[in-house]
Amino acid sequence: MPPQRGGPHGQGRPCVITRRATFSASHRYWLPELSDDDNRARFGPCSLAPGHGHNYELIVAMGGPLDGDGMVLNLSEVKHAIRAEVTDQLNFRFLNEAWPDFDLSRPEGCLPTTEAVCRAIWIRLAPHLPLMGLRLYEQPDLWVDLLPPGPAVAPAQADLSTAQPVAPMEAFLSIRTHFAAAHRLARAELSQAENEAIYGKCARPHGHGHNYLLDVTVRGRIDPRTGMVCDLATLQRLVDDLVVEPFDHTFLNKDVEHFATTVPTAENIALHIADLLTGPIAAAGARLHKVRLQESPNNAAEVFAETPQLEMVPAALDLAVAG
Ligand SMILES: [Zn+2]
Ligand SMILES: [Zn+2]
Repeated sequence: MPPQRGGPHGQGRPCVITRRATFSASHRYWLPELSDDDNRARFGPCSLAPGHGHNYELIVAMGGPLDGDGMVLNLSEVKHAIRAEVTDQLNFRFLNEAWPDFDLSRPEGCLPTTEAVCRAIWIRLAPHLPLMGLRLYEQPDLWVDLLPPGPAVAPAQADLSTAQPVAPMEAFLSIRTHFAAAHRLARAELSQAENEAIYGKCARPHGHGHNYLLDVTVRGRIDPRTGMVCDLATLQRLVDDLVVEPFDHTFLNKDVEHFATTVPTAENIALHIADLLTGPIAAAGARLHKVRLQESPNNAAEVFAETPQLEMVPAALDLAVAG
């Protein structure tokens, strides 16, 4: 069948667009029902008064059929909605006091974590924009993704005029870290010439190295009081203890047992990291969703730990960041 052309200027054809916005805000993690000692033990330096701040970066993905002007939405309307509903209300504010969502004197109030702030932004933007996804960076090595709740309904079919702004209950929390390691790509049963035919320069006998960038994404429900998908310090400790510490400044083929018999391609390193993290992250109360290992600026491998098949969600949010 020939590709669907739609009306003039692409009218009716579906497309996803993204828009980026930034704001700076402060917050403090401190629950009134806990003692000072318990707050300090639970939230570490994030509990210190009067708080600390971040330069937040928000990516809004929206989808729908093109209108007669060849656009999903007029960008000036998108900019206005994001400014009026989010950035004008949060920029240079103390988040704990900016929105009632974070008023901890109310039983339904929760800490203004990245997950909780992203969800509160979803609730405010959903009545105005056909949201397909939100990403909120607290800093470059910590971000949260939200996707529409339930089975994704294409906005073309959804009746946005009557749809209630239902916020996603689950969030995807990602942390970024890095390690440096050497490897050599070669299969022991093959000759040097055969290995070089397959792996090229990567098969040279004495190996070579990379500064690996590692993104670990977990999925879980946002706790109604702590606003957290999982304890961030625990997640960071697991990644440090199980991956960074044993892999950093090693020759992977010789120093990491798994790679004595498995060729340490970026794909296999990502899969092994997912295997190492899945159980411990589940024991910490979250689910490992994705491992992304970037070997160089030119190549990366992604593994989705929850499903054996390939996934590409939320790709629109990734592209927005790369651009
Ligand atoms: Zn913070
Ligand atoms: Zn390499």
